[in-house]
Amino acid sequence: MTESTIDPTREWRRRDHRHFMHPFTDHRELSEKGGARIITRAEGVYIYDSDGNRILDGMAGLWCVNLGYGRRELVDAAAQQMRELPYYNSFFQCTHPPAIELSALLSELSPGNFNHVFFTGSGSEANDTQVRLIRRYWDLLGQPQKMTIIARRNAYHGSTLAGASLGGMPAMHKQMVLPVPGIVHIEQPYHFGLGGDLSPEEFGVQQARLLEDKINELGADKVAAFVAEPVQGAGGVIIPPETYWPEIQRICDEYGILLVADEVITAFGRLGEWFGSSHYGIRPDLISFAKGVTSGYLPLGGALVSDRVAEVVIASGGEFAHGYTYSGHPAACAVALETLRIQQREKIVERVREHTAPYFSERWASLADHPLVGEARSLGLVGAIEIVRDKASRERFHKDLGAGTRCRDICVDNGLVMRAVGDTMIVSPPLIVEDTHVDELVGKAWKCLDLTAGSLEAVG
Ligand SMILES: *Cc1c(COP(=O)(O)O)cnc(C)c1O
Repeated sequence: MTESTIDPTREWRRRDHRHFMHPFTDHRELSEKGGARIITRAEGVYIYDSDGNRILDGMAGLWCVNLGYGRRELVDAAAQQMRELPYYNSFFQCTHPPAIELSALLSELSPGNFNHVFFTGSGSEANDTQVRLIRRYWDLLGQPQKMTIIARRNAYHGSTLAGASLGGMPAMHKQMVLPVPGIVHIEQPYHFGLGGDLSPEEFGVQQARLLEDKINELGADKVAAFVAEPVQGAGGVIIPPETYWPEIQRICDEYGILLVADEVITAFGRLGEWFGSSHYGIRPDLISFAKGVTSGYLPLGGALVSDRVAEVVIASGGEFAHGYTYSGHPAACAVALETLRIQQREKIVERVREHTAPYFSERWASLADHPLVGEARSLGLVGAIEIVRDKASRERFHKDLGAGTRCRDICVDNGLVMRAVGDTMIVSPPLIVEDTHVDELVGKAWKCLDLTAGSLEAVG
């Protein structure tokens, strides 16, 4: 057999199955389905698989490819930096221009009381760093007993031990003895799923007060911080009622506990502001970022440190015994700088806020008219639809029918990446989507919901 007669897709699938352990994947189920789809290239807002299918990337990769694929400036920034200085560390009293310039630019773009950045390789590492910073802060203030961190059920903060502990994903906790000690969870502000007959406003206040109850239960002198995503992403695009964050802010202020905003998804324009905290008027003490900071072209994350924390931990705290080999990697920082400069030059955040998000919101809301949809919600450029058997009672399909994954598979077969979280379908398209892409996304979503309804009927 000559080379040209071998089907590369089949051969790749065979080797993928034999050797590649995928993240968050049931490998037996994957092989029963015939193996993974192989993505070979991408351009703009489309990805292409090895069979030549073109698929609209409704998830911007994993919430990260904000500028879309094929941005030459980002590739050039990486190549140029790698020719000049591909690697050096910032331990031991050294530094380098890309990390200096990026930390200065991030300080400029972030809220006024943020002037320091600690770089990591990912969002998970950013949140691990937050746990270290939080504990160090209270320790230096002579309150080492103030060490319990409160987070939320169904939050996602990454996959390292601290990230998975802060996160409230039962499936992750079940596979390890997690969370690690000193991390506790309260219920989330998920109105569609938990709100019952309460108005969103009443429910938002009620869910925020769970934080106050937990602080009082533990004793305010034991509580170090509250960690949360402004909008929960991986949990299913849970957009809290408008009353939620003001009440959380009041409670954090009143009890003096640190507020950590995990903005790994919500920063850099996703909600139409440079930081999602600004949308809600949240005044965090620490911010985690990653994903969109490089538009996903290279891995980079970090912790933004407010002056309140910096004065204790950086200015007078001595050595912070923490760091990663790739903290502030020069090539990743160069790509991040170029990403953010493109966003400034092309006014991408303003365009999302003033044009794309309002258009997306209106078109996305129309999906609520579909017989299968119990709710269609969006904020900025994230959206979710709830698949239900009965619209009025919000009754779900039987779990074994896998309505969400069924819909997801139908979507990708019909040229759309839409992700399933249980029976909640979510999207987070690149920030550069045009109106025609939004039309295509919503049109395909409707058609795939039709196909999903047919498929669910066929199985009962
Ligand atoms: C993706 C994500 C993380 C983890 O980031 P990684 O780069 O995958 O480690 C943390 N927090 C939030 C909110 C995320 O969406």
